[in-house]
Amino acid sequence: MSEQGTIIKVAGPLVVAKGMKNAKMYEVVRVSKENLIGEVIELHGDTASIQVYEETSGIGPGEPVVLTGETLSVELAPGLLTSFYDGIQRPLELIEKEAKSPFITRGINVPGLDREKRWDFKAIARIGQEVSEGDILGTVQETTLIEHKVMVPAGISGTVQSIESGSMTIEETVAVIETEQGKQEIAMLQRWPIRIPRLTKNKLRPSEPMVTGTRILDTLFPIARGGAGAIPGPFGAGKTVTQQSLAKYCNAQVIVYIGCGERGNEMTDVLKEFPELEDPNTGEPLMKRTVLIANTSNMPVAAREASVYTGITIAEYYRDMGYDVALMADSTSRWAEAMREMSGRLEEMPGEEGYPAYLGSRTAGFYERAGAVTCLGSDDRKGSLSVIGAVSPPGGDFSEPVTQNTLRVTKVFWALDAKLAYKRHFPAINWLQSYSLYTDNLAAYYTKEVAEDFNRNRIRAADILQEESKLEEIVRLVGTDALSPREQLTLETAKMIREDFLFQNAFDPADAYTSLKKQYRLLRMILIFMDAAMEVIGQEDFEFSKLQALPVKEEITKAHLIDEKELEERFNTLEEHIRTEVHSLKLKTGTGVTEQSSTQEEHSSHSQFPTPNSQS
Ligand code: ADP
Repeated sequence: MSEQGTIIKVAGPLVVAKGMKNAKMYEVVRVSKENLIGEVIELHGDTASIQVYEETSGIGPGEPVVLTGETLSVELAPGLLTSFYDGIQRPLELIEKEAKSPFITRGINVPGLDREKRWDFKAIARIGQEVSEGDILGTVQETTLIEHKVMVPAGISGTVQSIESGSMTIEETVAVIETEQGKQEIAMLQRWPIRIPRLTKNKLRPSEPMVTGTRILDTLFPIARGGAGAIPGPFGAGKTVTQQSLAKYCNAQVIVYIGCGERGNEMTDVLKEFPELEDPNTGEPLMKRTVLIANTSNMPVAAREASVYTGITIAEYYRDMGYDVALMADSTSRWAEAMREMSGRLEEMPGEEGYPAYLGSRTAGFYERAGAVTCLGSDDRKGSLSVIGAVSPPGGDFSEPVTQNTLRVTKVFWALDAKLAYKRHFPAINWLQSYSLYTDNLAAYYTKEVAEDFNRNRIRAADILQEESKLEEIVRLVGTDALSPREQLTLETAKMIREDFLFQNAFDPADAYTSLKKQYRLLRMILIFMDAAMEVIGQEDFEFSKLQALPVKEEITKAHLIDEKELEERFNTLEEHIRTEVHSLKLKTGTGVTEQSSTQEEHSSHSQFPTPNSQS
């Protein structure tokens, strides 16, 4: 079909055309003689507003707009993994080659997936088998790390009439299905509109953590598999480092990383760094289970607007295969700004700070595509899609609209703090501001899989940190001398939690990833120190500095480097050292234990701490 309209106005990425009465909302059009890719985003009678995904300079009224009859879609088939795409799934390398320059030239027609490459398709479904949407027809070893499942496309059900294993391109027919509407030839290549969530059978309650290996995240503010989280933070606070560390270490099998660069060269760094990242479990390149979508700031804003949808649709596709997928978007503020710019050009009524009134609903629509689900298909396989969006509020002000709208829909808030980054406490996540609403969902998992008292310790640690901030206020006013020994010990313990547990260097291979078991032992070690100390600090004339000077404190500081393989043994010994050394401070005269002492059980019920704050 080649219905045609005529451009009447060009305003940056927005083109208005008349003669478009047959156009549909969200239809893809080709704009001008340059053949630029655009999408209809508003229709009034026969006038259409079109958002154009390529640079529009030099384009003017009178030029043609051709309808394609298609909606903006992604191509889904083997070959997605290891790819680098722009916001509308054009492979960056191919565009570069075609254009012979690192800048994307206009109107280039490059498919998202290689049409020539042959894949070894292994049939699973049998001739005569009844299949319906989501059923697995066969598999392809897409990379050494991921097996690609070729699924019956949505809306198709019937009897398999033919299917064969063999070497195929993504466009060749791998199976023929006899449906009520007739024969359907199925190729590996499918298309799915990016603005519509892919279908699932049902959503499940997220009940397993997405383990990240970052101690403050997993222990204090965990995210569930299928959960949604936000990382807001000012420039330089660690959004990108955190997102990349998640991409590398989280226990999702497939990663989709959407980068919306603040500056042009920042994405170039990501493009350079990602291929060098190693999968920590296999030592293979992380790209073998990653799809990367990159928008540099010199790409048109419209492509940035589309990129989050392109990314999440690809992520849903792998989720549908039954994988745990994690999507990172860095930073969604750039996406919101693209929305604001388009809205301004459409002359829509602006909402808060010039963002469109639909900022909230679009943000919600995006994060709601996260979830743990039962996938389509008769085998009832489970998959999950976790979404983590970085937000870069101007000046680090979390009350601005993008942060606020994000927090309304995400259940995890990892608040990056410029002050902590300035003090070089990394990850610079503020433990008093951050929260996770998944802790209740995940409590049973932690109890069963890690340790019976994991949750209790987590609450205790959060309480100690909370009490520290109150005590610091007193210290500022009247000095440390005004504190009771127990309060001094709380401060000392909080310091150990901060420095020996929460502090974690993402760039040190020995420290970047900590298993849940080790996180548990590290925190328990600090609490054991506190409990043992509680038995001695109440003694008359007790000198606090003696406690601080114990040699075992040095061992505690280094415990985060204990090899995962020697965990049990090393921590058991360390705990023994702690008890022995701290108890050696008991005064030789009298009982040595005063009314200030308390038992471990009392601590466990954390009777001496304030009620759990909003973080827990
Ligand atoms: P943002 O994306 O928020 O602008 P970055 O992620 O680029 O900030 O982080 C800025 C710098 O802070 C990094 O270059 C690094 O030196 C330091 N940094 C951030 N997080 C960590 C971490 N977890 N471990 C060590 N250094 C970190």
